[in-house]
Amino acid sequence: GTGHPEWIWRSGELVPWEQAAVHVNAVGHASVAAVFEGIKAYLAADGRRLLVFRLEDHLRRLADSARLCRLSLPYSGAELGAAAVELLAVNGYREDAYLRPWAFPRGIIREQMVPAEAACEVVIDSWPFRSALDKERGCRAAVSSWLRVSESSMPPRAKAFSNYHNGRLAMMEARENGHDWPVMLNERHKVSEGAGACLALVRDGVVVTPSLGSGVLPGITRDTALTLLRGLGFPVEEREVDRSELHLADEIFFMGTAWEILPVTTIDGLTVDDGTPGPVTRALSGAYGRLMRGEDDTHPEWITEVPLS
Ligand code: PMP
Repeated sequence: GTGHPEWIWRSGELVPWEQAAVHVNAVGHASVAAVFEGIKAYLAADGRRLLVFRLEDHLRRLADSARLCRLSLPYSGAELGAAAVELLAVNGYREDAYLRPWAFPRGIIREQMVPAEAACEVVIDSWPFRSALDKERGCRAAVSSWLRVSESSMPPRAKAFSNYHNGRLAMMEARENGHDWPVMLNERHKVSEGAGACLALVRDGVVVTPSLGSGVLPGITRDTALTLLRGLGFPVEEREVDRSELHLADEIFFMGTAWEILPVTTIDGLTVDDGTPGPVTRALSGAYGRLMRGEDDTHPEWITEVPLS
């Protein structure tokens, strides 16, 4: 394909993708204050609908991120939700798609100290989603020397572009050392999260994940996974987690919109159990997949249906 969809949503209207331009001075400095979301629409198992997963919750987090970053969003969650659905329909996806709403200060910005009153543009981009991650092989993770941004430097609860420089440096360090992904500790040196996903471990059948006060992004997959795990009968603990607990874990997995449920097979070079995805991870991954494809209708409040034209 041409590498881009036909339409992009920009500040209230659908615009042909090539025409959604800005002046070069509208990028760079403005990104200091920009926030975004990552949302997935799944092709239902029946092949007749796209199912947007937890659209309202993602848009609520976009509004929270904007508030934390002192940006004022000119659209409500309901308006952006309707726009996202329309965008999926006009672009005619018949496969999984990724939605990327983001907001940034409008116009020519030549300084980083973007005022809170700055008018904001909101854009929703989209593209076909094909995961490059191998869920069977899992991934090798390692604790990073970079600490996760703390409440006393930048709000970790915001999905702000600026925060991603933190995860990016950690990711590069992990790759340079022969691992796939970093695990970041927080300023108290407790386990926080990965570079683009939250994390949980299993020991003796109990699922443990760092609490929201551990410097994590309030992950929607994290919340979904904890709900599913409780439904499957596994005890779940949200609390501070020590690095040694990772080393003693029977299972470790990442949780994120793009990553879904990704098993961790080595941590700091130590093999997690026998180095293959464990039973809790598999059970969760299966339940998550059925939910995404519309084969489990126990959470209708999480699904926005887009009929295929
Ligand atoms: N942490 C970070 C830093 C992320 O970028 C993401 C992906 N949005 C997550 C956690 C997981 O969040 P979610 O499950 O809502 O995608």
